[in-house]
Amino acid sequence: MAASDLMRELTRSTGQAQVRPLEQTSAETQGYRFQEHLQGHRLELQRFVIDVAAAAGGVTEVPSYALVHIALPADIAGRFSIPEFATLAFDYDVAKENPGAEFVTFGSPMLDRFIALGSEIGRVTREFAMVSGIRVPPNLMDRIESKIGFNRCRRPALRATAIQACERAVFRFIVSYISDEKFSDSVTIAIDTATLADDTELLPESRTVFFSGDPQVVSGVPAAERRAYGDILNAALAHLQERARPRLAMYQAEVSGFCQKELVKVLKFYEKTLADLAARGEAADAAGDLEKKARIDAKIQACHLERQRRISDVVNKYRIAAEARLDSVTLQVMPKVKALLEVRHKDNTYTQEVFYNLATNSVEPLTCPRCGRRFFSAYPAADGLFVCRPEEASG
Ligand SMILES: [Zn+2]
Repeated sequence: MAASDLMRELTRSTGQAQVRPLEQTSAETQGYRFQEHLQGHRLELQRFVIDVAAAAGGVTEVPSYALVHIALPADIAGRFSIPEFATLAFDYDVAKENPGAEFVTFGSPMLDRFIALGSEIGRVTREFAMVSGIRVPPNLMDRIESKIGFNRCRRPALRATAIQACERAVFRFIVSYISDEKFSDSVTIAIDTATLADDTELLPESRTVFFSGDPQVVSGVPAAERRAYGDILNAALAHLQERARPRLAMYQAEVSGFCQKELVKVLKFYEKTLADLAARGEAADAAGDLEKKARIDAKIQACHLERQRRISDVVNKYRIAAEARLDSVTLQVMPKVKALLEVRHKDNTYTQEVFYNLATNSVEPLTCPRCGRRFFSAYPAADGLFVCRPEEASG
């Protein structure tokens, strides 16, 4: 049988349900599985909370799956609005079965408090940029205009400035790709904790900044507003999936060749077995041995089922899953000038916030409200926002 015939036979005999996972790797199946893995980050979250509690002088106990008893020193508990004695559930079903337990997941206020506690005791590191002269540069507009272009608009006017201590959360994830073997990557994602903008590509700029552990270096600078750490982590996870998925698809494509080779072998084997059985059945039929014919028919049925099972086994064996865990968080606090610009386009006035980073001495790119990308060349959109591409401008 030619290879192409085999593949046709493979498609026909296995049905879409079993062949599709092979073809669908990056799109739905793997994407969904990957998301499941990330959302099911429970154990990593549990470990994080237990580590933080232990570092804060607390005591923890895990009485059963995804359930943690926690006792914290009273002063720590009071300062971070965490009960002194708490039962935490890291699984939705476990939380439901234990009415006294508080469900901890991404976005829950309890996780936020533990991250805040972690930042205090060093499980999460917070560092402050040392900047000489925290003030609005006199030529701020020149600097902004040399970087940011407002297409089809008049020159922007500076309406207001404010200096703020902005915080960026730098998450380091370890992503593991697992099939027969397991290999891991480290992925860094940075999120602005006020705007939730993806700051990852701005990280190289801050490499030359000297950071201190002493909050005094930004004393007197009001802190920028901050979103809940749970939301910030969620934003990072969304980017993590975007980053990891192409790699997952690439690895999946690599192993798909092996998978098909093995499937071809399996199919050949059953093709031969089924042909033999069919021949024996026909012989029995011709001889009028109905009992034997019935026995062989039953064997053929069983053989079909076994073949389906073997195909599923092979497909599953070569399916790669990705898992991610949070390795560390660094909070970088940097003073920035928040500048409010007014920009005229036709008869409309747009307002746009621009950040000038006083630690890196650079104008930060805008964040596209449509696609989340960072950009310097802005297009006015019909809804009063600036977007990164002309095709995003309408609607
Ligand atoms: Zn965009």
